[in-house]
Amino acid sequence: MFVLKGKTAIVTGGTRGIGLSIVKTFLDNGANVALLGSRQNSVESTLSKISQYKDRVIGLWPDLMNPEEVKRDFEKVKNRFGSVDILANNAGLSSRTSLYDYTLEEFQKVMDLNVTAVFVCSQAAARIMKEQGGGCIICTSSMVGEYGQPSGCSYPASKFAVNGLVKSLSRELAKDHIRVNAVAPGVTRTDMLSALPKEMVDRISADIPLGRVGEPEDIANAYLFLASDAASYITGQVVKVDGGARV
Ligand code: NAD
Repeated sequence: MFVLKGKTAIVTGGTRGIGLSIVKTFLDNGANVALLGSRQNSVESTLSKISQYKDRVIGLWPDLMNPEEVKRDFEKVKNRFGSVDILANNAGLSSRTSLYDYTLEEFQKVMDLNVTAVFVCSQAAARIMKEQGGGCIICTSSMVGEYGQPSGCSYPASKFAVNGLVKSLSRELAKDHIRVNAVAPGVTRTDMLSALPKEMVDRISADIPLGRVGEPEDIANAYLFLASDAASYITGQVVKVDGGARV
């Protein structure tokens, strides 16, 4: 229904969880995809699991906080597939540390990946997109980017910052035909959640109006819509995909 044929997407944090689901959904709907991860071995192992798409997917592992490496690898994607039409800024780190126990390093590490890398990747992608006449950037925010959370303050602070980047860049880049949006997942079934006891997941699910936690595919479907031409008049939005959850 939402066709991405002929478009090329870069997906950060594409090796597992929500990112891998975005990668598969984009591939299933015709896109070429560059899957980015933090380590060569995790990228290669993910590529081997989706080898049926091998003509349309490549893997890269730049340091997302290093503008030179990111620029070099985004150019590689353009050279391989001809364009960069979609950037999914999905890589992210969460935190549950109490304010009293935080080290500056831990606070900074979350901000570096969740905010600085979004800036670095968006800048590199937007330069290519402007030159080719347009594109779209989508960021994975979070429900905590609206509500905050009672510990791990770096994480919600980083997602508020992501929403700020989305609102600002959507206004700055509209003239270059680049749309910028975010998807804000609620609690979603990734490795983090699988590690919790079933009773805890049942309790979380019972508090969600739609009665279940999100699946990575729920988030990827919102990405698909926002990346497609069906969303060509949508920019600057943070789309909640949370089953109606209100903290
Ligand atoms: P995950 O831990 O399964 O995946 C995180 C991804 O980020 C991995 O692919 C990993 O390789 C990548 N990554 C981690 N550190 C990196 C680094 N230094 N450099 C490059 N890549 C790095 O988590 P997930 O739940 O799939 O999270 C994906 C996004 O969704 C994150 O931005 C997260 O904040 C957001 N999110 C998740 C939930 C949830 O409940 N799972 C809810 C709201 C928002």
